[in-house]
Amino acid sequence: MTPLSARVSEDPVTKLADDSRCARGLAWIDKNSAWVTEQQIRLTEIPAPEFGEARRGRALRDLFAASGLEVRVDKTGNIIGERAGADRGSVILIAAHLDTVFPADTDVRVKRDGSRLLAPGISDNGAGLAALVGLAGALAESKVSTGKTIVLAGDVGEEGEGNLRGIRELVDFYGSHLAAVIALDGPSADHITTQGIASQRIEASITGPGGHSWSDFGTPNPITAIARGIVRFSSLAVGSDPRSTYNFGVIEGGTSVNSIPSRAVVKVDLRSEDARELARLEAALREAIEAGKNEEIAATRAARDALELNFRSLGTRPAGRLPEDSPLIATIRGVDRYLGNTSRLEKSSTDANLPLSLGIPAVAVGGGGKGGGSHTPEEWYDPAGRELGLKRLFLAVVSLAGTDRNR
Ligand SMILES: [Zn+2]
Repeated sequence: MTPLSARVSEDPVTKLADDSRCARGLAWIDKNSAWVTEQQIRLTEIPAPEFGEARRGRALRDLFAASGLEVRVDKTGNIIGERAGADRGSVILIAAHLDTVFPADTDVRVKRDGSRLLAPGISDNGAGLAALVGLAGALAESKVSTGKTIVLAGDVGEEGEGNLRGIRELVDFYGSHLAAVIALDGPSADHITTQGIASQRIEASITGPGGHSWSDFGTPNPITAIARGIVRFSSLAVGSDPRSTYNFGVIEGGTSVNSIPSRAVVKVDLRSEDARELARLEAALREAIEAGKNEEIAATRAARDALELNFRSLGTRPAGRLPEDSPLIATIRGVDRYLGNTSRLEKSSTDANLPLSLGIPAVAVGGGGKGGGSHTPEEWYDPAGRELGLKRLFLAVVSLAGTDRNR
């Protein structure tokens, strides 16, 4: 006969979930997932364009405070909620970006279509922020004492030209105290992002004399020059292994239909799984835009210095990769096994890039539920299955922080 003690599970996650304090946290998630959805809608309906996250941040700060977190706002505008563990010198950081890619005047009111919620930013990163709020609530209800200190953060500057300034400041502040970082980005619990894709964001601008469309015809045109460069670069082959991508995301220039513009600007996002390939792409982009400018000068028979080209960096995202045998991956996989959740390892470009590039264990995961259409006005979110994502996060965070048996 098996002795009773041997029948008690040896699986650490099962043991943790059976602990009465953790069980209270898990039960809170089941009871409060509709409330978490309400908070997601509320946060999504507060516009948070890049460099304009403060108002949404204040709403998150109040939710953190209501969950008993020790709240502060740092100099970049990050909203930080700390839950002290026995060891204040060892930190698990869970961060979700506050900002969206949408300009301030975008209609961000949430509409419903059956079980779906529709609004720009509802998934990216409404789902991540909602998961932060849900995690704070479950931790508060559980009253679990942890070994490590748990820090929740709504951070600024992940999207667009934010250049990861929020997560940079957080990683800088906690430094060597960081035991692990979890970035919450988007919905879904079906992946663990363990590799950060490197990216370069570059602005190219061409200026020229400009003039009247009729009387100054033949003056080199900065818009035409940029267009020539875009066509040149786009005709280059971009590799699939390592996977690399490019996007001409913004083009600006000119003042009226019958004026030769004096300025044209293009903003480009380059990404690659490989840092050397990214450097090659960047060099090729600069060459192509330069050649486009020269082609325009030659076509108009203008003086060599009739157009001036300038490049400006809009942000650099370092690459990084978590080793497959990292204890952080093992912990999340253990939680997935316990929950019966299947997940795959993924590569992406998120807040996790920064800690990964510095050798700090980091992943990005979704906050739960389903979503799509990210970075488009058709973005949607469906809260079905949110509980799974929240329990996954809660169990992973408590496992990583460790329960403090001395208290
Ligand atoms: Zn995002």
